[in-house]
Amino acid sequence: MKFDIVTIFPAMFEGTTREGIVGRAIERGLVDLKVVDLRDFTDDRHRTVDDLAYGGGPGMVLKPAPLFRAVEHLRETRGEPDAVILTSPQGKPFCQADAVRLSRLGHVVVLCGRYEGVDERVRDHVATEEISIGDYVLTGGELPALVMLDAVTRLQPGAVGDEQSVEYDSFTRGLLDYPHYTRPAEFRGHRVPDVLLSGHHEQVRRWRQRQAVERTVARRPELLAAAELNDEERAIVRDLLQARQEENDNAGD
Ligand code: SAH
Repeated sequence: MKFDIVTIFPAMFEGTTREGIVGRAIERGLVDLKVVDLRDFTDDRHRTVDDLAYGGGPGMVLKPAPLFRAVEHLRETRGEPDAVILTSPQGKPFCQADAVRLSRLGHVVVLCGRYEGVDERVRDHVATEEISIGDYVLTGGELPALVMLDAVTRLQPGAVGDEQSVEYDSFTRGLLDYPHYTRPAEFRGHRVPDVLLSGHHEQVRRWRQRQAVERTVARRPELLAAAELNDEERAIVRDLLQARQEENDNAGD
């Protein structure tokens, strides 16, 4: 997969894209990452990428021309992208389903805003979608670009080994992940749940399944509506909701 990033701070991607699973995936060619410097697409001596806002007010705006030219350059040298993503707090909130969808595309371009954001014409005529990584405002789109790159890379076939199977990860099927433990079995007086030491595969499977459902019901019940549950999991949800209902009823007595 080709993943292109347009930024005024290319150095922000240097260390982060060399380490861990993302670093290895790039090294092995599973992801072909290209970071371009927006300033290379300016045409003045000072390599100006920003300007004052029409209508006044504080803050600078990224000019349209360098962003249009950067995407044209990527089109010519890297081929037609399947998606041009504008990072923005006003975009669609990024979720695992977006990561899955993007991971199946052959070529994604991400535009990193700065200052007050980008000229609206970039949103209207260059971007094919606008994505936010959460309801908070960052100083730039570089961290959002890295978040998307990371989430999309670990879904590339072969990127993640057995040591970190993505199958049971939180959100994959709409449930949160079950708790994980490693050695020692007792640490500072805190024991690992007995069932995990029992060697009973079926009991372990059921315990994990129950934990995943319980956590989701307790912490993120809104996820259940869209979750792909099997019959066992549905039964656990029913039990839990019923128990909760009874508690409420008793509290009301
Ligand atoms: N004035 C804008 C915010 C600009 S923040 C507004 O209120 O909508 C500067 C840049 O940081 C944005 O152009 C965008 O590229 C990036 N950014 C900030 N917060 C973000 C978020 N939550 N998700 C994705 N990108 C974000």
